[in-house]
Amino acid sequence: MSQSWPREILRLALLLAAAALTGGIFGHIGMWLFVAVSVYLVWNIINLYRLERWLGRGRRFNAPTTTGVWGEICDHIYLLRRHGRTRKRHLVQLLREIRNFTTAMPDGVIIMDHMGEIRWLNAAAGRLLHLRVPQDVGQRLPNLVRHPDFIHYLNGRDYREPVSLVSPFSRSQHLSLRIVPYGEDQRLVLVRDTTRLHRLEEMRREFVANASHELRSPLTVMSGYLEAMREDAQLRAAWGKPLEAMQHQTARMTAIVADLLELSRLETEQREAPYSPVGVPALIRRMREEALSLGCGPRNISLEVDEMLFLLGAEREIYSAFSNLLFNAMNYTPTGGNVTVSWKQEGEAAQFTVADTGIGIPAEHIPRLTERFYRVDKSRHRDSGGTGLGLAIVKHVLQHHGASLAISSEPGRGSVFICKFTRERVRREADKAGAS
Ligand code: ADP
Repeated sequence: MSQSWPREILRLALLLAAAALTGGIFGHIGMWLFVAVSVYLVWNIINLYRLERWLGRGRRFNAPTTTGVWGEICDHIYLLRRHGRTRKRHLVQLLREIRNFTTAMPDGVIIMDHMGEIRWLNAAAGRLLHLRVPQDVGQRLPNLVRHPDFIHYLNGRDYREPVSLVSPFSRSQHLSLRIVPYGEDQRLVLVRDTTRLHRLEEMRREFVANASHELRSPLTVMSGYLEAMREDAQLRAAWGKPLEAMQHQTARMTAIVADLLELSRLETEQREAPYSPVGVPALIRRMREEALSLGCGPRNISLEVDEMLFLLGAEREIYSAFSNLLFNAMNYTPTGGNVTVSWKQEGEAAQFTVADTGIGIPAEHIPRLTERFYRVDKSRHRDSGGTGLGLAIVKHVLQHHGASLAISSEPGRGSVFICKFTRERVRREADKAGAS
C-alpha cells in the first residue's frame, strides 16, 4: 500500500471526528456527519471530473494538481502515458527502418496467411513476380504466380529446399522461391533472382562439355598410334613398359572424357526420362557377364532377380547407373568376398540393390560420395581404374527417373547401394502389353 492511503484514511477520520464534535457541541450529530460525508463525496466527484477531463483532452494538457490518493493516481497515469508515448515513438522508428530496409532489399519478401493470401510484400517481390500493391494484397498467391512447380512446392509442405523455376513472366529470368513457415500457419515467401547464377552454371556445363568433346579426337589419335606402336615387335622390345603405361593412361583419360560427356548430357536434359519398358532381369545378366570379365573382385556374383518385374525408363541410362554400382562393388571387394545383385518389388515400388562384403566406406564420406571426383582413398582410387564420376552419373540418372539412392556401409564389412524407384516407373510382366 502506498503512503497516501493512511493519509487519506486519516483525513476522512479527522473530518468525521470534527463533524461528530461539532454535532456534540451544537446537537444534530447525524446531520453534521451527513454534511461531512457529503463534502468528502463532492471533493471526490470534483477530482474524478478533473481526471476525466484531463484524460479526454489528451497529452497537450497538464495533469490536474491535487493531493492524496487522487494525486497519486494522476502521477501514475502521467508516467504510464509518458512510457506509452516513448514506446510508440520507438515502434514507429523501428517500423520505418524495417520498411526502408525491405524496400532496399534485392530479394523479394511476401507474407502469406494460412489460406495462401498475400498480407504484405516488399518492392522486390512486386518487381520479380509482377505483383501490384495494394491491388494484389489479399489475393491468393498461387492464383497470381501460376507456375506448376511453385504450386506443387506450396502444396507439398516440404519447405527444406527452395524451388527453382523459370520466371512465368520472362523466359530468360530464373527465380528461386523459398517458403519459411512461422507463427500460426503463416508463411514467408523469399524470392531471389538466380539468373546470373544460372548463367554461370550453364557456362560451366558448356565449358566442360566442349572441353571433353575437343579432347576426344586427340585421344583417339593417340590410342591409335599407341596400339600400332605396341604391335611393332622392335618397339615393344625397347619400349614395352612405357608403351603399356601410356596406353593404360590414355584409356583412363578416354573413360573420364566419356563420363564427363555423359554427365553433361544428363545435366542439360531438363525433361524426365521416357517411360520405355526396360527389361531389367536381362540387363542384370548382361552386366554380370561384363563385371566378371573385368578381372577383379569375387569370382562369382549372386543374383536375386524378380523375372516378372520391369522398369519404365531410359535403358541406356539405367544400364550406365546399374553397371557403375556393380563395377564399383567388384573394384572394392577382394577376390574372396561376395557381391549380390537384387531386383525386387517393395510394396508398390521397386528396388535395385548391389551389396558387397568389400572394404566399406567410413560414415563421414557417405554424404559426399555422389560429388564429382570425390574419393574416399585417393591412393587406392588411381589403381582402381575408376573415373571418380560413376556415382555422380548414378545420382543424375536416378534423379532423371524420379528415383533415389540410399547408401549404407561399414568399413571392413561391406557396402549396400539401393536404387529406389517409385510405382509409376514399375510394371509387372503381365502389365507390359498395357504399358507399351
Ligand atoms: P570411382 O570411379 O572412383 O569408383 P565413383 O564415383 O564410382 O568413382 O565412387 C566414388 C568413391 O566411392 C570411390 O572412389 C570409392 O572410394 C567409393 N566407393 C564407391 N563404391 C564403393 C564400394 N562398393 N565399396 C567401397 N567404396 C566404394
